[in-house]
Amino acid sequence: MSRFISSRFDRLEAYTPGEQPRDMKYIKLNTNESPYPPSPEVIEAVNAEEVKNLRLYPDPTAKGLKGKLAHRYGVDSENIFVSNGSDDILNFAFMAFCDEECGVTYPSISYGFYEVYAALYGLDAKEVPLKEDFTISVEDYFNTGRTVVIANPNAPTGLLLSVEDVRRILDSNPDNVVVIDEAYIDFGGESCVELVHRYDNLLVVRTYSKSRCLAGARLGFAIASKELIADLEKIKYSTNPYNINRLSLIAGEAAIDSDDYYFDHCKDIIEAREYTVGELSKRGFTMTDSYANFIFAKHEYIGGEELYLELKKRGVLIRHFSKEIIKDYNRITIGTKEQMAALVSAIDDILRG
Ligand SMILES: *Cc1c(COP(=O)(O)O)cnc(C)c1O
Repeated sequence: MSRFISSRFDRLEAYTPGEQPRDMKYIKLNTNESPYPPSPEVIEAVNAEEVKNLRLYPDPTAKGLKGKLAHRYGVDSENIFVSNGSDDILNFAFMAFCDEECGVTYPSISYGFYEVYAALYGLDAKEVPLKEDFTISVEDYFNTGRTVVIANPNAPTGLLLSVEDVRRILDSNPDNVVVIDEAYIDFGGESCVELVHRYDNLLVVRTYSKSRCLAGARLGFAIASKELIADLEKIKYSTNPYNINRLSLIAGEAAIDSDDYYFDHCKDIIEAREYTVGELSKRGFTMTDSYANFIFAKHEYIGGEELYLELKKRGVLIRHFSKEIIKDYNRITIGTKEQMAALVSAIDDILRG
């Protein structure tokens, strides 16, 4: 840190992304990326001609992409916001909808970026503990007087709230924005996008990074009332109007044209998840009932950190979090069936000790 940093940030603790080591080839089950490449249509669309066009700025209104998303999700283009990854949207939402008067609330065990944004903007943040079984107690989010942020399914637990539960939260917070981060909704959960037609306080945040195999393109989108979207646009045009590069815009459009490809692979991942849950249960693990492309697993006697380190030695990366109440667990991304079989045999090797 230099002596020039603003005192607003000198004690800020930044988000720590999952490791991306380059020292050897790992089976990467640590950052919830897809094991599959983008669809053939995407690969074809992002071609040499388009690379030549990189001398030009991208369309700041992202008209083409918004049109496709609007059609796909049954809303108008004015109900869609697109951004450089959904992290960008969450950042904008914290900026736009929270301040000194309006703090924020989110589960104490959830996506780690929420607390970073809360600290970045100096917000009064109420972190609500999960129940003992890691589920969210819906009533804790009634009448909060704060902006509510919930990942659904939650991360790293994978546990899902029903649309009805989200509706109850929306009903009891009519004067506050409720952000539902649906990064993992395509892996078996039911989206609450439909509620956007009835609730002007709902902001649904989605990403291309997980189910649409485009983490490297950095593309996220949000669906909400026209007024909420206009607020996000205002922040975008006050920070970085060209926030999505040309190639990602094209990739994002082509990906919507190949939904079948992605949803077939989501099914593959759900199958591989069921396989992994079955195999790990036989080996002394307990897991939450995950609706995401990861599982959250704890072994009966091997500690969380130890398992992480032993697997890393064997070329398999998983994600360990050091927070006290989840330190016995690991979050394991679901890859292909072959990758999961390799994980299981590495675990067998560890258990033979
Ligand atoms: C991965 C993830 C994101 C971030 O996605 P990007 O679009 O890659 O920025 C947001 N929220 C949750 C809960 C995530 O797990």
